[in-house]
Amino acid sequence: MEVSGMLEHMRQFAMGILDSPNMPSPRPVVNDHQESNIPGIYVAGDLAGAPVVKLAIEQGYAVARHIASKPDARGSDGAIYDAVIIGAGAAGLTAALELRQAGLKVIVFEKGKLANTIHDLPEGKWIYTEPKDRPAAGPLWLEEASKEDLVARWRKDIDASHLDVRLGEGVTAVAKRGKLDFEITTLKGTYRARRIIVAMGKTGDPRKLGVPGEDSEKIHNRLYHPKKYLGEAVLVVGGGNSAIEAAVALAPYAHVTLSYRGATLYRVSRTNQKKLNEAVASGHVELLLNTQVTSFANKTYSLDAGPDRPFDHAFVLIGSKPPTEFLHSIGLRLENEWTATRFAWLAVSFVIAYTIYGVKQGAGHEFWPYRGWGDQAFAFFHRPWSFWYTVLYTAVMTVFGIQAMKRWGLDRKDKFQIWRYASLIGFQWIFFFLIPEFLFRWLVEYQWLGTKLAQDPTFARDAWRSYGIIYAWPLFFYTFFGDANRVWIVWGALLSFVLIPILVLFHGKRYCSWICGCGGLAETLGDRWRHLSPKGDTSIRWERMNMVVFLAAVVITVMILTKDAVTIFRTPADIGIDYYHLIADTWLVGILPVTLYPFFGGKVWCRYWCPLAKMMELFSAVFTRFKVSRFAIHANDKCIACEDCSRNCQVGIDVMRFALKQEEITNSNSSCIGCGICVTVCPMNVLSFGPPSAKLVQIEKAA
Ligand SMILES: Cc1cc2nc3c(=O)[nH]c(=O)nc-3n(C[C@H](O)[C@H](O)[C@H](O)COP(=O)(O)OP(=O)(O)OC[C@H]3O[C@@H](n4cnc5c(N)ncnc54)[C@H](O)[C@@H]3O)c2cc1C
Ligand code: SF4
Ligand code: SF4
Repeated sequence: MEVSGMLEHMRQFAMGILDSPNMPSPRPVVNDHQESNIPGIYVAGDLAGAPVVKLAIEQGYAVARHIASKPDARGSDGAIYDAVIIGAGAAGLTAALELRQAGLKVIVFEKGKLANTIHDLPEGKWIYTEPKDRPAAGPLWLEEASKEDLVARWRKDIDASHLDVRLGEGVTAVAKRGKLDFEITTLKGTYRARRIIVAMGKTGDPRKLGVPGEDSEKIHNRLYHPKKYLGEAVLVVGGGNSAIEAAVALAPYAHVTLSYRGATLYRVSRTNQKKLNEAVASGHVELLLNTQVTSFANKTYSLDAGPDRPFDHAFVLIGSKPPTEFLHSIGLRLENEWTATRFAWLAVSFVIAYTIYGVKQGAGHEFWPYRGWGDQAFAFFHRPWSFWYTVLYTAVMTVFGIQAMKRWGLDRKDKFQIWRYASLIGFQWIFFFLIPEFLFRWLVEYQWLGTKLAQDPTFARDAWRSYGIIYAWPLFFYTFFGDANRVWIVWGALLSFVLIPILVLFHGKRYCSWICGCGGLAETLGDRWRHLSPKGDTSIRWERMNMVVFLAAVVITVMILTKDAVTIFRTPADIGIDYYHLIADTWLVGILPVTLYPFFGGKVWCRYWCPLAKMMELFSAVFTRFKVSRFAIHANDKCIACEDCSRNCQVGIDVMRFALKQEEITNSNSSCIGCGICVTVCPMNVLSFGPPSAKLVQIEKAA
């Protein structure tokens, strides 16, 4: 391969890694009041992560209240609006009504129809008002209803309040003229405003195939009235829920062909899959997988294989383009954008992690440039850096753990998350701080476990081995090595090969999200970046790396334990342990993952390199296969494909795909660690824990 080709290949590889945390629709970066990086421009609703109507309304209301409370909310120039709202959906309409009631001069621009997203849902679609345990906020009517009734009711509210809503007038540009002075260009004119609320949802424009003839008026991106196509030959293109819903809706009236480029329908709900199977079996829909439309002519279309086929109308339903271009054109900053500043932060993060772990190697073993002086320089108050490292670790976990507990547990009244964070913080304090740093010393000094143990040097001198009370082999790699007291060897074997499998049997890999200190730092300090966990099939394939680390741990352990008997193992065992210490126990568990927390979420070590996580996953997969596991996540049929579960899964599982198909998540099909965040965030209460194929158990919510 030529040098330029190789460089391009490497660039694409690097970009693949940097972009791996992105969801299909990246969110703008906003502060606590939903204000973007441009003062005066706010973002609300689906686009800002409020995935259901009630939450979009709540956010629109909160933004409006915040703006209305500002001393400069109202201007004196009659030609300038106090606020322009982009999008007449739940968030935009709520914000506009609230601002109008507060006496501000507002106008709403809507590129389509009133509440276009809801309007475009299938006929008669029932709109649920989840989450049930939250009251609706703001002036917009909200009760469970069919989409038609809901939109009709909103229209009435708008008319009654004389709100200025310009339908069919999409906003095409926004320019900043000065402080609190924006120029808004729409399809029909230009306007000025002091503030802007971007409430345009995340659906954007329909995605196109990009083939000749696609502009014909016979090609559509929405299906409104299936009966209209009675007796016609209709092509539907796409493999998602909207394509399948359209094909099924057309099936009783038209001759339907469904073309999809993939080999299987990937993100389709179980109900839709069933309906499609029936329609295909009864001959009402012809399903063409692995096919691509290459062009449209007046009466025929071509596929990449086979003869041209006749058609009267075609529906291209291949999703929509997120409004990224528009948001960029306004100047909004989006999540996970690799600017020069972000690369600089990556470098700073590396220097911090490298220093922390490089110095922790101990006197004389510190990494360059700390070699020979780092240990001394970081030994405050006659205590080594390893002690202060533990203090720092525990303090960070406590502070950020309380924050995470508030975010997921207290604010959402979710007992499961409250207990989970209490457990993580409790284990850190007791087993990874107080015992190794203080209690073990006192236990020996005051002979709490008897004189014999206290006077046995193989026990008394090794306080560090008390980490092995909770840390199982091979995460706590040294449990069986050196001159270990029999107490540690027996306990280590019992913990790793009896207690851990029992825990896994009932709780899958919950050790990672309830007990472990490494997972604990990820769940606390790393929580704010959990949405940056790499996603997609490639990122899941990277998880195979932990099998390599696991096998290395097994091989080195066997060689060390047998090296006295098998002399040929001596040299490789000694070299192996040195390298394992350097690579796994320093770089992979410390420097690299901590550096990467703010960029790829907290679970880099746990997901890609931890050998204990791999061992538990193997146990759990075996238990699932033999149908004895008690751990699984189930889904009911209410998923609305909002993607919040997939976005927040720290181990990058596409939870939504499982939810749509109502397929159980276990450790035979995922590396789930049972943190329950997907269950907690789901606005539709779709997900729940319970034994595989068993009665569902919803996570208990506090009263
Ligand atoms: C299949 C499906 C089922 C659902 N079921 C439910 C349910 O049962 N219950 C529930 O609570 N939620 C449900 N939802 C989610 C719900 O639709 C959204 O949460 C809600 O619509 C979000 O409101 P919003 O105001 O943020 O955005 P949207 O409702 O998407 O409104 C954004 C508006 O902005 C307009 N717009 C976009 N760009 C421009 C522009 N440049 N200029 C002017 N206007 C623009 C759009 O046309 C649109 O009308 C469902 C969603 C889907 C896809
Ligand atoms: S699937 Fe859910 S419970 Fe499992 S790790 Fe992801 S967010 Fe946690
Ligand atoms: S299961 Fe996931 S995608 Fe479906 S509604 Fe819940 S959070 Fe949204």
